[in-house]
Amino acid sequence: MSPARDGHPGESARDGHPGESARDGHPGESARDGHPGESAGGMRWPTRALTFPDVLVVGAGPAGSTAARLLAEGGLDVEILEEHAEVGTPVHCTGLVGEEVFRDFDVPRALVSSRLERFRVVAPGGGAFDLPRAGAYALDRRALDVFLANQAVLAGARLSTGVKVRSVENLGDRVRVVAQSGHAREARLCVLACGAMSNLPARSGIIAPRTYFRTVQANFENNGLEGAEIYLGRDVAAGSFGYAAATGCGVKVGVIARGVARHGYERLLRRMPGLRRVTADTYRRIPMGACRKSVAERVLAVGDAAGQTKTTTGGGIYYAMLCARMLAETVLQSRRGSDFSLRLVDGYDAAWRRRLGLEIQGGLWLRGFFEHVGDDEVDRLVAVAASPPVQDVFLREWDFDFHHRLLVGLARLPELRRHCLGTLRGRRVLGAILAAVDLRPTFSPL
Ligand SMILES: Cc1cc2nc3c(=O)[nH]c(=O)nc-3n(C[C@H](O)[C@H](O)[C@H](O)COP(=O)(O)OP(=O)(O)OC[C@H]3O[C@@H](n4cnc5c(N)ncnc54)[C@H](O)[C@@H]3O)c2cc1C
Repeated sequence: MSPARDGHPGESARDGHPGESARDGHPGESARDGHPGESAGGMRWPTRALTFPDVLVVGAGPAGSTAARLLAEGGLDVEILEEHAEVGTPVHCTGLVGEEVFRDFDVPRALVSSRLERFRVVAPGGGAFDLPRAGAYALDRRALDVFLANQAVLAGARLSTGVKVRSVENLGDRVRVVAQSGHAREARLCVLACGAMSNLPARSGIIAPRTYFRTVQANFENNGLEGAEIYLGRDVAAGSFGYAAATGCGVKVGVIARGVARHGYERLLRRMPGLRRVTADTYRRIPMGACRKSVAERVLAVGDAAGQTKTTTGGGIYYAMLCARMLAETVLQSRRGSDFSLRLVDGYDAAWRRRLGLEIQGGLWLRGFFEHVGDDEVDRLVAVAASPPVQDVFLREWDFDFHHRLLVGLARLPELRRHCLGTLRGRRVLGAILAAVDLRPTFSPL
């Protein structure tokens, strides 16, 4: 898996030598041959613009590559700019996805490194229950990114690796994208798909998410874990969780926390003696809540850059791809009126909030509740969750990527209501979740 060999990525961006297009670099061959994980070659970034692309996409993650592919398939001239020399590296993600990614985006099952049948939720006191029907797939995350970038290139997009974008300037009828190297490029639109770590969106007119959670994760040798375990409790992360997931190439152990994640992570590792480390710890952040505005004049943000993640789990691969599709549909429609103005691309902001607003807000309400309950109460809730009526709701309403129906089902259960109604916050959360159902057709909480 060495795209750098094919397309000489990165060098010219740093050195300033004009390069060829990715079409000349044959980066997509492996995808065509059905070996999707093998190569996503980049190209050198020309110092003088050889073309004036319609769209510059910043970031070759799931959001950027999906948007680039769909825009290129729609007939636009698209170029992806990726800061790393190789697409998909380094890997920070656990890579768990549900069935939707395969169903909606033709991701090949060859990228699955393991199937996780069992998801066990472990209370601080040691009680536990298994989420029925909660199976998921662990993807080889690097191979996924390479596959998606190859698909974009096959659709006609160009891919430039080793290009870190520093700024995006609005010039009225176009945008000017400036790389760290000082080289600049103009386009009619810029799509920011640069993930959660970049502050580029905030500096480009996007009103970024207000809250980010911190994460720490490493890979360990598997010592017999099957599926995944979710660890609750203030010792690990108040209102959030730690996890261990058997991913096919070992066990990924991590913590997602509002504040510092490392302390809870170290305490979690102490509960797993004998784990043999394979990789160093990686520290990242995850947006917790949607951005306030995902569109500025000639700039659109998508994926983690727009806060389009599940606020229950922090997962964002599927939402990133889903929102990339909504973005492409809006841009292609607005292009038919040969106008990429804010008024037209604004439809994208409204579209993804209609689809995901309640999901994102529901997870925030749930977290708000759990942040304020003590470990004893979490123990009691986990015990209730193991009871047949609650398990029935899980069976009926579980969906890997959409959790709001499950939350509503749980909020209606007398067994759980009894616990939540004891506190003002609990009553508020229940009330908000249930009221939002009635408002659903017009609901736009974000
Ligand atoms: C520890 C952890 C575990 C996770 N586990 C899961 C999981 O199991 N399932 C799940 O669905 N989600 C998971 N996620 C979330 C998931 O990784 C993200 O939601 C998803 O990657 C978002 O895709 P994206 O394309 O928006 O951003 P990214 O995948 O982050 O891609 C952004 C790309 O932009 C590039 N870039 C950034 N800045 C620049 C710049 N200035 N110039 C050029 N290029 C730039 C980056 O190099 C990167 O390639 C996890 C996240 C973390 C941190």
